[in-house]
Amino acid sequence: MHRIYENEDLVVFWNSEKCFHAKKCVTGSPKTFNINRKPWINLDEADNKEVWQAIEKCPSGALRCLYRHNIDVKADIENRRSVAYDGDKQVGECDYEESDGVWNIYHTEVLPEYEGKGIAKRLVFRLIEESERNMVRLEATCSYARKVIEE
Ligand code: SF4
Repeated sequence: MHRIYENEDLVVFWNSEKCFHAKKCVTGSPKTFNINRKPWINLDEADNKEVWQAIEKCPSGALRCLYRHNIDVKADIENRRSVAYDGDKQVGECDYEESDGVWNIYHTEVLPEYEGKGIAKRLVFRLIEESERNMVRLEATCSYARKVIEE
């Protein structure tokens, strides 16, 4: 299972398949990471520096953190894509086609002036999370998306 958690400044990705519950994150920021709470990650309870440092202590690679840069990334299932917005301006998208219960990502693109902010990764992650919610398999002929999925 993959989940995305956000606050105003940070985006955190969690991959439960890699998480072996060493609980280093819990020790590093007990207010943020609490395995007895649902959702178990709450990014509004501690300052961002503490959250980031706790994530760096994760030994498994189950947690990843990026800055949000005020970019919203949303799933748009009706149009088979995830989309990134800077306010009202669309700055990136990740598109998939659907066949026999499989979503295949064939295109990922971010405007050149928005590159280097982790937006493409967030677009793919949004579809990973969404495909799990819809119980479909996710594949990618887009080489960038495939790399993110395989990570
Ligand atoms: S430190 Fe990493 S592996 Fe350990 S519980 Fe936290 S997320 Fe899971």
